[in-house]
Amino acid sequence: MIKAKKSLGQNFLIDNKILNQIVNCVEIENKNILEIGPGTGNLTKYILNKKPKKFTVIEKDNNLIDNLKEQFKENLNIINDDVLNIDESLLFKERVIVFGNLPYNISTEILSKWIINIKKDFWFENLVLMFQKEVADRIIANYNNSNYGRLSILANWKLIIKKICDIKPSSFSPKPKIDSSLLLFSPKKDFYKIKDPKNLEKITRIFFNNRRKMIKKPFNQIFNGDLRVLEKLKIDLNLRPQNLDIETYYKLTEEYENLRS
Ligand code: SAM
Repeated sequence: MIKAKKSLGQNFLIDNKILNQIVNCVEIENKNILEIGPGTGNLTKYILNKKPKKFTVIEKDNNLIDNLKEQFKENLNIINDDVLNIDESLLFKERVIVFGNLPYNISTEILSKWIINIKKDFWFENLVLMFQKEVADRIIANYNNSNYGRLSILANWKLIIKKICDIKPSSFSPKPKIDSSLLLFSPKKDFYKIKDPKNLEKITRIFFNNRRKMIKKPFNQIFNGDLRVLEKLKIDLNLRPQNLDIETYYKLTEEYENLRS
């Protein structure tokens, strides 16, 4: 009997309906697949049944590796490591589909790492990822919504995002205290060519530092009251950070980079 480790976010999926829904989000047959955190192999089994071409998993917990090897034999390429230490773009020659019922404590860190590391070419075809619902709501939020913020702007920069469903705690063992949501991500063919993602992070950090206040102060802090930027982007300084759409934040970052180059 495997005892779930809270520190590694181990809530194993036990709901066949949800497991089916996850593997039916995208076409798996003959595709290269990566699963983050296979755990006891519940989702892994469902993916294998769909006949992928090559199937790699990354699992941090040493104690689960023997069980995975025994269950799946040579059908699985198992990497026993922390996903945050791995550069996936170097791992695969062909694009992969990524599945992950992610450990909640590092889910946004994993997603941010992947987005920031994409240069021109995507190493993945799709991401099918589970988040705690509150985080998923922030990822998919549009402007003028109270969930809209830095994570929405970063995630929507290079990815098209679709919510598949919400998932109740009773679908997991042990049961988490919160609801979850399943999101499907696909690469955007065209995205704003920001030179350094740190600049997007900096602009959104300064703008969202005080969500309730007008954007006059953060704008002046970054652009020294440069009226040309205001006029070019048609920004009203009486607005609040959540009233600016995502494109405006990418354009602000481009202007910031142009002024510094
Ligand atoms: N996929 C399984 C399922 O749906 O039943 C398990 C999902 S469980 C929420 C998260 C899994 O990620 C666990 O197996 C955990 O050990 C693993 N994990 C946690 N942190 C990790 C990390 N940094 N790198 C790789 N795997 C990690």
